Amino acid sequence: MKCVGIESTAHTFSCSVVDDEGEILSEVREMYKTKDWGIVPNKCAEFLKEVKERIIYEAIKDFKKIDLVAFSQGPGMPLSLWVGLHAARELAEKYKVPLIGVNHLISHLEIGKMLCKAKDPIYILATGANTQIIGYEGGKYRIFGECLTIGLGNALDKFGRELGIGFPAGPKIETLAKKGSYVELPYVVKGMDVEFSGIITKAIQLYKKGTKKEDLCYSLQETVFAMLTEVAERALAHTEKKELLLIGGVAANKRLISMLEVMCKERKCKFEVVPMKWSGDQAAMIAWNGILDFKKEERGLDLKKLEIMPRWRVDD
Ligand code: AMP
Ligand code: MG
Repeated sequence: MKCVGIESTAHTFSCSVVDDEGEILSEVREMYKTKDWGIVPNKCAEFLKEVKERIIYEAIKDFKKIDLVAFSQGPGMPLSLWVGLHAARELAEKYKVPLIGVNHLISHLEIGKMLCKAKDPIYILATGANTQIIGYEGGKYRIFGECLTIGLGNALDKFGRELGIGFPAGPKIETLAKKGSYVELPYVVKGMDVEFSGIITKAIQLYKKGTKKEDLCYSLQETVFAMLTEVAERALAHTEKKELLLIGGVAANKRLISMLEVMCKERKCKFEVVPMKWSGDQAAMIAWNGILDFKKEERGLDLKKLEIMPRWRVDD
């Protein structure tokens, strides 16, 4: 069985073909980037519309037979989600195959689990818009802790906008941090939840008062990654799970990885990072999740009543 996946929840349009053994047969993607701004939603959607046809063509041109189409139904930015929905519906109509709408965040988890051969991990999902500590318990995904206001990636990008280093800011902050030393920033863990927006406000204030950007990048990383490490450790202790899996665009960060490595080593817990190519947004995860969901339900959506689900949670 071959499934075509379509990803279009935020900045990336991607199309991929995956089979039911988890073989990624093709994957093509393009990401909206800016030099000095963050994502402007309507400009981003225009970009996705412009590139979608070429990306889909590139990804599926070598396949004569397709059995299923899956798309990211949510959560995400409404304007971006619509672009994906329309593209997926067109494909399902053209190939006369069922269409499945999958949860973008669960897709991140499922491809991570498949590629890392994990059995029953605690997941740290650290993407642009989402930061969640998740585990599978009692037949469903449960969120043990999450960001209360903005996601970790978005928080870094927000600070990056202030520095004028463009989007995505995470990699540049990581580079600048290498030359920085520590200045105190608020550390905000509330129970199992984390809060980043006050820390960013404080960092921006200090930047405006003349604190060096290298020092702020370093301190920001030390603070927010320590917060994440703390709640991940508590989730491991609470569930007695012995595996930790790190996923999402922020999983590219070497400092975050090294902090989690130390914590897991001390707890004698297995630690895996999803390979970078499959950690950020792409459609292979959507196609794979489509196959998993279809095998449970064996039916597609009604093409006449398609909806996007911008706020669809992992635990719904
Ligand atoms: P995603 O939403 O999963 O595609 O992840 C995108 C987010 O990951 C953006 O907010 C980026 O700034 C962030 N990101 C990418 N690379 C890094 C890095 N090396 N360190 C920290 N954040 C990063
Ligand atoms: Mg994502």
